[in-house]
Amino acid sequence: MSDALTLIAVTKRFRTRKVETTALDQVTMSIPRGEFLSIVGPSGSGKSTLIAIMGLLEKPSEGQVAFFGEDVTRAGSGRLADLRRHHVGFVFQSFHLMSDETVVENVMAGLDGIERSRRLRRERAMEALNALGIEHRADHLPAQLSGGQQQRAAIARAMVREPRLLICDEPTGNLDPESAGIVMGHIDAIRERGATVVLVTHDHVIAGRADRTIALEHGRIKQP
Ligand code: ADP
Ligand code: MG
Repeated sequence: MSDALTLIAVTKRFRTRKVETTALDQVTMSIPRGEFLSIVGPSGSGKSTLIAIMGLLEKPSEGQVAFFGEDVTRAGSGRLADLRRHHVGFVFQSFHLMSDETVVENVMAGLDGIERSRRLRRERAMEALNALGIEHRADHLPAQLSGGQQQRAAIARAMVREPRLLICDEPTGNLDPESAGIVMGHIDAIRERGATVVLVTHDHVIAGRADRTIALEHGRIKQP
């Protein structure tokens, strides 16, 4: 069976009027289905750019990308959006919840364009909140929750569509150690249900929970 992701000589350059930055420089790697991969590296080493390409948010400047066996190197933005909507969940350090919508409405938004029935969207969102242990917070606004609970809501929103790939950018970066432990427990559980997980972290203890860790430096994979 094909890998979850294959990157061949992926380079990403950003041009502004004055400077050109090579954020990723000829990155070649693959991620088997079901793997839990962590990515470490100093600030500016290309971690966010790499996961944006893995999550089909960005296209490489050069190189090839295959997503669950589909060569997406030349895919149009519509196809990429479709693959993202159905197969990729994102969790960010700063939660990215809509502040004027309740927790359950935030999770239901994870099913936009996937489930037409509002009743079924709500049902599935409540199941996801239940799995994350925060169903009693469904009708609260995000600001009424602790940081750890907000991150669990963000994981519920990512998981409600049952993605094949879960991408987490510093998911515990804003959390106290106890909340971080709870969040990591949920990420482990998602992986045990068969999802492929890619996690960026500064925390080497958290990175150590993964099957494999890669380190980036100046846009390249550092050889161990
Ligand atoms: P990390 O997540 O490891 O901190 P990034 O992937 O965000 O690193 O950035 C890698 C390099 O690319 C940095 O030098 C950064 O300034 C540059 N970069 C990232 N995104 C952009 C962008 N949209 N425009 C210009 N430069 C960018
Ligand atoms: Mg980053």
